[in-house]
Amino acid sequence: MPRIHIGFDDTDSPRMGCTTYIAAILVEKLHRLGASFTDYANLVRLNPNVPWKTRGNGALCLRIRCKQKIIEEIKETVTEAVEKNADLSYEGTDPGVVFLFNHVPKQITAFARRTIQGVVKTKEALRLVDKFDAEAIGLKKGRGIIGGLAAIGETLEGDHTYELIAYRTRENRGTPRRIMQSSVVEMNEKTSPLTFNNIDPERKRILITPRGPDPILYGIRGETPGALRRAHQIVHSEEPIERWIIFRTNHGTDAHLRRVNSIAQVNPFNPVAVQGVVAGETKVITGGHVIFTIQDKTAKIDCAAYEPTGMLQAVARKLVRGDLIEACGGVRPASSEYPITINLEKLRILKLAPRVTLHNPRCPRCEKRMKSMGLKKGFRCEKCGFRSSKLEKIALEYKRNLEPKIYVTSPRSQRHLTKPLCRYGKEKSGMPKKTISDWHFP
Ligand SMILES: [Zn+2]
Repeated sequence: MPRIHIGFDDTDSPRMGCTTYIAAILVEKLHRLGASFTDYANLVRLNPNVPWKTRGNGALCLRIRCKQKIIEEIKETVTEAVEKNADLSYEGTDPGVVFLFNHVPKQITAFARRTIQGVVKTKEALRLVDKFDAEAIGLKKGRGIIGGLAAIGETLEGDHTYELIAYRTRENRGTPRRIMQSSVVEMNEKTSPLTFNNIDPERKRILITPRGPDPILYGIRGETPGALRRAHQIVHSEEPIERWIIFRTNHGTDAHLRRVNSIAQVNPFNPVAVQGVVAGETKVITGGHVIFTIQDKTAKIDCAAYEPTGMLQAVARKLVRGDLIEACGGVRPASSEYPITINLEKLRILKLAPRVTLHNPRCPRCEKRMKSMGLKKGFRCEKCGFRSSKLEKIALEYKRNLEPKIYVTSPRSQRHLTKPLCRYGKEKSGMPKKTISDWHFP
């Protein structure tokens, strides 16, 4: 039976819709048409740092096997669902759908990597579509073809996580979400760290429910589909759930961060991880944002830890000249007001500079701290009168209250792709071993 990879993107707008919802509907429709799924629905987050995107920037891919004779019907069903559910009248919503048959070529995988870590053009996507006999449908400017093809190319064979998304019924959309808060606390206690980012530990706020008019009631993130189903059973919703589905995703994997060897290689809109030495004092600017400069042999660059990053900006405040760190985050281009800046999502302290203060020596006779008699003239004890020109100032190191380790922005300000602390050491490799089951409802 032929295999089809169906990628689509850019159907939603800040005022309505959600591309994941179209995926959830399509899973059911394609299932009824007789398609069988070779993977969970894939939700692939693309570079959050591209200039034209302010929201989540998630693209979808459904991977199926089906009989030759229903391929046309499947293509029509997908195109129709995208047309019907996309917010086409919104300026800047430019949906795209891509169909790729059989195996995923390495070049499309490489294209996906560039779309997650950098900036690509629609032209490049169309060239690949042509080269590999895929089919692409673009609505309006069709920029969604980029994401559609990238979602196909990101086969999530490396590190990946899962997200269970539950959707609201139509009549409730746009109203406050009604979830029993205590059930989320209970769910977190029973399933964490197999689920993560359920609650903001600093402000005790629930993080699984988005705000805004989209159809998502809540999304639970975790390491395995089983943990998510268990978590979903514990969460108590006081409004009906229309449907739910489990996605396999690159959430929480740091897939967007490209490690570069020197600061000169940092480019605007390309999220990075780069090492440098703190070059001066940190500045706290209006709003509680912290700014400092790092440098290496090749260049220097500003780093910003914004106030909402919580503990990250608290750590950034304590950095001093000479500290060796790795800065991770999106890169904002220079503006008339600010130079090119790394917007920190995490920072790794590699080596703390010794922070010393110089003190006058103590008197060898009576232990009293001595007085200086002037530059290079030695010291004198005020209590017993002892004098010496041989004694020198003593360097005392003081505690930094920082450790050489990784610090991550607080969960409430983490991007979809940011790997949270609790995931370190849990990185997966390879495709899921268990066959997929119980991953959507109805
Ligand atoms: Zn003395």
